[in-house]
Amino acid sequence: MIVHDSFFIGGRWVAPESDGSFDVISPITEEIYGRIPVAVPADIDRAVAAARHAFEEGEWPRMSIDQRCEAMTRFAKCLEPLVGEAIDLQINEMGGVRKFIGPATQTCLGQRIYDGIDVVRQLPLREVRDGAFGKVIVTRDPVGVVAAIVPWNVPLSGLMLKLVPALLTGCPIVIKPSPDSPLSSHVIGDAAIAAGLPAGVINIVPGDRDVGQYLVAHPGVDKVSFTGSSAAGRHVGATCGGMLRPCTLELGGKSAGIILDDFDLDGQFDVVMNKTMLNNGQLCVANTRILVPAHREQQVIDRFAAAIAARKIGDPRDPDTDWGPLPGERHRDRVEGFIRSGIEEGATLAVGGGRPVMTKGWYVNPTIFSGVTNDMRIAREEIFGPVISLIRYDTIEDAVRIANDSDYGLGGGIFTSDIERGAMLAERIDTGSLVVNDGIFAGGGGPFGGRKQSGLGLENGPEGMASHYKFRSVSLAPGQAFDLARAEALA
Ligand code: NAD
Repeated sequence: MIVHDSFFIGGRWVAPESDGSFDVISPITEEIYGRIPVAVPADIDRAVAAARHAFEEGEWPRMSIDQRCEAMTRFAKCLEPLVGEAIDLQINEMGGVRKFIGPATQTCLGQRIYDGIDVVRQLPLREVRDGAFGKVIVTRDPVGVVAAIVPWNVPLSGLMLKLVPALLTGCPIVIKPSPDSPLSSHVIGDAAIAAGLPAGVINIVPGDRDVGQYLVAHPGVDKVSFTGSSAAGRHVGATCGGMLRPCTLELGGKSAGIILDDFDLDGQFDVVMNKTMLNNGQLCVANTRILVPAHREQQVIDRFAAAIAARKIGDPRDPDTDWGPLPGERHRDRVEGFIRSGIEEGATLAVGGGRPVMTKGWYVNPTIFSGVTNDMRIAREEIFGPVISLIRYDTIEDAVRIANDSDYGLGGGIFTSDIERGAMLAERIDTGSLVVNDGIFAGGGGPFGGRKQSGLGLENGPEGMASHYKFRSVSLAPGQAFDLARAEALA
């Protein structure tokens, strides 16, 4: 059993303020896998105070971009030897399969930092613009202390999406991991110590929803970066709205993947599997509504049936397992409730349903519903499990209408043999990030964020970085000359 007895505050592991603890139950064994202290408001106070001190008095926000990039490169190097541990911790705390958690962790603890460094180096801290009303000097300052709230389903990828832009822009961060997958965040603290990052720049305080609310409303916080369900995001947004506090909300989804009539179902079906079922279907961007030309529905059902039969459900620690357990009994019951509702509302259970035979763990079979209409609960609500709804369409107009008829607008996919046709069709979908075939969501430095109930604001790329700055315009009289180099020499 892994026992953590401290929080990472002010650059070191410190004893918690209360003696309460909670157990992390392994979804694989149903036994206690780890124990961590319960954060109380006094722990959050200490973490925010450490971050505030780092922001107001410390060197981090005052460093040059080059110095911060150097420090972050050191941090990435110190994370490298911890990647294996980070993968194992996540698999055991939330049941994700090695096949997915492995590469996702390698990317988020390595390449994501280097990508962030490339982006921040391209953003000028001072820029002179010239227009009809004269010159204006646009400058940016770090927004301040960032409170980052992270969900359980991609513990370290979610955390690093917040940590990298915050730190690179000069903002100390207080991270609250989910109580359902809190153990893996320890590697971040260990690497921060090894890299010699200044005290208070990173603070990690796992805790429950109440402590999350306390952090969101804390007077010492300048910006909230939240990832989680739309229901929780609404609360966070309301709190931040009341305080006029900037926030980024990355929330749930019910994304549509549109299979076009020209898509190569025989040669390329793995692509559809990747975009629907990865991480047990527990990805915010999973294409959980698959829109199929009516005449191809049976072919798609057959491909899903064959692909599922050829893949493995089982222990997520094994490198060849495709589906592991859901993270808890309550979550499994919820997913099964959706499967029942699909049957009750008249969809056809085409593949799966029920549970695989396993001695331990909260498993459900990968499940495909056909004949789904877009008004059914399984088409409208986020299930967060391996349950896919096939919805028939007749024309492209019909497909676009169905895809856009959703409360959410997070992900989406176009599956086609004609890339340009796919890319242009993607522009008609009212959603934040799409892929054509096997594209990576917002890969290559795109902004990532939801529309409608899927969120507010953006992460990733220059747009995600920009939300960690406060901007200022200094205007000169029309016609006034300005020597930027001289001004910078005076700074
Ligand atoms: P959740 O909303 O239950 O919890 C997310 C985090 O917020 C946890 O750390 C939780 O303790 C905390 N929290 C909950 N209520 C809070 C409140 N009122 N104030 C402050 N903190 C609060 O979500 P979850 O079950 O952990 O994660 C799954 C959800 O996250 C899904 O809806 C999924 O789509 C979404 N998600 C979205 C993205 C994205 O980028 N859009 C990425 C991953 C997951």
